[in-house]
Amino acid sequence: MATLEHPAPPPKTSRACPSCGHEPATRSEAAHQRADLAVSWLYLDSEVPGVIIARHHCRSCQPEEPAVDVACTVCGDGPILVGELAIGAATNSAPPEPVQRWLTEEGWQMEPTLLCPDHA
Ligand SMILES: [Zn+2]
Ligand SMILES: [Zn+2]
Repeated sequence: MATLEHPAPPPKTSRACPSCGHEPATRSEAAHQRADLAVSWLYLDSEVPGVIIARHHCRSCQPEEPAVDVACTVCGDGPILVGELAIGAATNSAPPEPVQRWLTEEGWQMEPTLLCPDHA
C-alpha cells in the first residue's frame, strides 16, 4: 500500500507582515514577502535622540519617504535608512553616527569598508 506524503504547511504567523499584518495570498508572493521582511528599515526614534528603531515592512507598507541603502561591500545586503537618517546619509559619505553604532552592535565592520556580519 502506498502512503501519501503531505508536507507540513508553514506556520501562518511566519508569513504575515509584522508591521501591517499583510498575509501573502500565493506562494510566490510569500517568497517575495519573506525577502522584503528580511530587510531592516532604520528610523530615528522621535522621542529618544540618537536611538535607532529597526522595523520590517512588506511591499504594501514600505515607507515612501526618501530612503538610502546601507550596503555590504561584498553582498550588497544591508539596512535601509528612512527619514532624517536618509537625509543625513545623503549629505555625508559615512552613515550617521547612530547608524554606525547600530551597525557595530549588529556585528558590521565599518573600516576600511562596510561589511555585513556574514563578511566581516
Ligand atoms: Zn506590511
Ligand atoms: Zn555581506
